[in-house]
Amino acid sequence: MDPIIDKEMAYSAYNYHPLPVVISRGKGVYLWDNAGNRYIDMMSAYSAVSHGHGHPRLLAALEKQAKNSCVLSRAFHSDRMAPFLEKICKMSNMDMALPMNTGAEAVETAIKAARMWGYQVKKIPHNKAKIIVATGNFHGRTTTIVGASSDEEYRKDFGPFTPGFIKIPFGNAKALEKAITPEVCAFLVEPIQGEAGIIIPPAGWLKQVQKICKKNNVLLILDEIQSGLGRTGKMFAFEHEIKKPDCLILGKALGGGILPSSMFLAKKEVMRLFTPGSHGSTFGGNPLAAAVGMEALNVLVEENLVENSKKQGQYLLEGLRAIDSPLIKDVRGIGLMIGVEIKPEYASARQVCEKLVEKGILTKETHETVVRFAPPLIVTKNILDQVIDLFDEALVELQFSI
Ligand SMILES: *Cc1c(COP(=O)(O)O)cnc(C)c1O
Repeated sequence: MDPIIDKEMAYSAYNYHPLPVVISRGKGVYLWDNAGNRYIDMMSAYSAVSHGHGHPRLLAALEKQAKNSCVLSRAFHSDRMAPFLEKICKMSNMDMALPMNTGAEAVETAIKAARMWGYQVKKIPHNKAKIIVATGNFHGRTTTIVGASSDEEYRKDFGPFTPGFIKIPFGNAKALEKAITPEVCAFLVEPIQGEAGIIIPPAGWLKQVQKICKKNNVLLILDEIQSGLGRTGKMFAFEHEIKKPDCLILGKALGGGILPSSMFLAKKEVMRLFTPGSHGSTFGGNPLAAAVGMEALNVLVEENLVENSKKQGQYLLEGLRAIDSPLIKDVRGIGLMIGVEIKPEYASARQVCEKLVEKGILTKETHETVVRFAPPLIVTKNILDQVIDLFDEALVELQFSI
């Protein structure tokens, strides 16, 4: 065992179970371990590194801004924040934005905004507002958010939880309609569930959901922290079905794979309810994150990364589906958000990921059975050909070692 891993076991909380590899460097879609071995990154830090590691334009933006100002707090105006917010609002069809740092904070912001709107606009009796969420959701790790989770692993021993959430099955519009009462202010949902195992809802679901929300005066809040910014072959996953939601949550790739940067976006009617003192974050909207985020958005557009995600995603999906292995139960995905479900009687997804490390591919399972394929959006056909071949080899070796 690498001494770094021993040291980590000694000093770090054991809240993750990483693969036994110590990375010291990354460039583009590649990562190198501390022995100099090269790997293809099929994980992109849970979609945070959509631009690839160390994108030269993002590093340049980082360096340039770092010399000017990095963190100001919101006590003063920075010359970087407003242009960044304008850009992301125009790209997403949203009216206004509130910048935060991590995904969970942006989700918390959405929850506060939805409740505020519920009381002030929808006139829900005080402290009665409810938010509907989907089973299998992943919205982050704060106590309120894990309270809204259906996953025991995320919740165990962290209660008591914030009340006011109703859980319904994912991808089921009828269940949404049935769950709505006059006290419901919002439906908070991922358009495609990432952590649950790349779960794609039935076609037409989101369109129907929007209709139901409109009819019942319920805010549709989409958590696109993972699915947004090109990951699914559209700039935002909602574009596959609708023009825009009422509110949108972004994170992960918004920081260009360099910094934590997240955002809650909404129509005016919602965002205007925030007043000075009602919400905030010391680092939210800091000029360094704004400058890097702005360049991250420019790169997405100017380097056609959304198009590439669609094209390479299709290629990878077809390539993975063409693998003839008894270990594979299902291959599903959209754009470069792809999951391969492994039959548990043969191997766990974790065992497959460990085998892939030997083959020079780094990725991580979601839950017990799904191997994730979510490379940086800059990935090329040539690299994907290698990934498909190496994955095929890994499955064959696993099959004959069982
Ligand atoms: C990762 C993720 C979050 C949480 O983001 P953090 O930055 O880890 O707090 C929330 N929602 C979705 C859909 C995510 O994938």
